[in-house]
Formats: sequence, C-alpha cells, structure tokens
Amino acid sequence: MIGAVFTEDGKMLSDITVPTGMPEDTMPALLSFFSKYTISAIGVSSFGPLQLTKGSPEYGTITSTPKPGWKNYPLGRTLGDTLHAPFAVETDVGGALIAEINEGAGRGCDTCVYATIGTGIGSAFIDRGKLTGTLRHATMGHIIVKPHPRDPFPDGFCSFHKGCLEGLASGKSMQTRWGMTVRDLPGSHISWEIESYYLAQFCVSLILGYMPERIILGGGVMKHPDLLPMIRQKVQVMLGEYLNLPEVHDDIDRYIVRAELEGKNGILGAFYIAKQILNKRGVYNE
Ligand code: ZN
Repeated sequence: MIGAVFTEDGKMLSDITVPTGMPEDTMPALLSFFSKYTISAIGVSSFGPLQLTKGSPEYGTITSTPKPGWKNYPLGRTLGDTLHAPFAVETDVGGALIAEINEGAGRGCDTCVYATIGTGIGSAFIDRGKLTGTLRHATMGHIIVKPHPRDPFPDGFCSFHKGCLEGLASGKSMQTRWGMTVRDLPGSHISWEIESYYLAQFCVSLILGYMPERIILGGGVMKHPDLLPMIRQKVQVMLGEYLNLPEVHDDIDRYIVRAELEGKNGILGAFYIAKQILNKRGVYNE
C-alpha cells in the first residue's frame, strides 16, 4: 500500500510504500507514518470490493476480498478513528478516474468513463461530477459480449460468468488463451484483432449506456500501440449511422483516449478524494 501526505494545494510532503501483508502488519506501519502529521482529511483509493454506501456504519469496509486478513476489514474507519479526521473511500478504479478528470486525460469532462484493461478489467463512471453506483459501485468489466467468430476459446475464462468481457479480453484471459504474455504477442497476431473486437463492444455499450463525454482506457493490455486505433475503428463500424455522434465519427481520437496518469493515479486519486472532503465541491460530492 502507498500512503502520502499532501498540502491542500497538492504539494506532496512525504510518502511511504508498505507491502500489503496482513492488516496487523501493514496498518500500524501506515498509521505511524501518518501520525507524524496533523491530518485534516483522508482520501482512500483501495482495492475492493468495498462497502461504499454513504451513512452506513460499514462505509469504507473492504468486503469479500480473497486477500488474506482483509475480508471485512474497516479500512476507512480505522484510518479515520486513529487519525481523528474525516475520511472518504473509493475503489482504486474510481480514484484513478477522479485523478484523470482533475489533471489527466479526462480534464474538462463532467461525464467520463475510465477502464483499466489489465489482469482483470475494472471500470468507473463519473456522471455530472459523481461516481455512479448506488447499490454497489458499478463494475462494467463483467458485461456480456458477443464472441469473435475466430476466437479459439469463445467460452471465456471468468470464474463467475465465463464469457463476460473480463473472461474474454483481460490480460489474464489472453495469456491463458494464447500461452504467452500480452507483451510477447506479436503485433500481427490474430489476438489483437479479437481483443479490439471485444473492447470495441465494451466501448459501444459504454456510449449507449452512459453517453459519456470521453472514454479513457488504461492498463497493461492497452500498452500495445496498435490496439487503441483498432478499437476506435471498430467502434465507428459497430455504431454505424445510429445516432451520428460527431464525437465518434469525426473526432474519435479525442473521444476514446489513453490514460495519462498510470503509475500515479492511485495516489493522486486519493489526494483528490481527500480534497473534496475539504472543498465540498468538484468531481466528488456527497
Ligand atoms: Zn465475469
């Protein structure tokens, strides 16, 4: 886990990286680092699943994670009670989107989707300044997609749904299907044609479901340089003339874009989550 202390105007004073072991080892190290400062607000951008219902006594608790020791761990409340400061918690993907909207690829957007295509597929959506998902946080990475006719394993690999998006298009599913890592797959390999077909379906569903102002794609799989142009081209074909959105048909290079803050979106997201507690305005509001 990474912890950092910022001034309110965004200058990082200090940071610490603590291995995510058992909570009884990890948390004292983090808390002793933070307790050297007077903390006025705590922002948390965490792996999940998380209980994020505002007003619930369980708000900010990690729920059903397989990580040993963290199941039902009250992460937000432990930080808030120990450091005597208000806290707000979001998923790591939600935090990344908040960071991208504030100073990355989502600048200027009121409604924006971020998805990370890595080992798994995570996504978050900010609608008019607020992250969506009331019952639970939204998790579009598991939507059902149509198999590619040339996919040798169209049944998919998701342990819950088999052929959902994550089961067919995550980095892990690509590695299982092709027997090599995403980094080792040659650019001309059929895998990229198939991958772009799935991710284009995902983008089309995001557009039809949310009508966001921008779609931001990040994660290790998106590092393949040809993938994003292939996705854009397929999105245009799949949507066809339906809607005739100029953002999609005339300006897609600025509509479906690459994430800009990878590697630092976790810590920046947590900063902006904390800042919203103090400001009570902007992209994250009660
Ligand atoms: Zn699934």
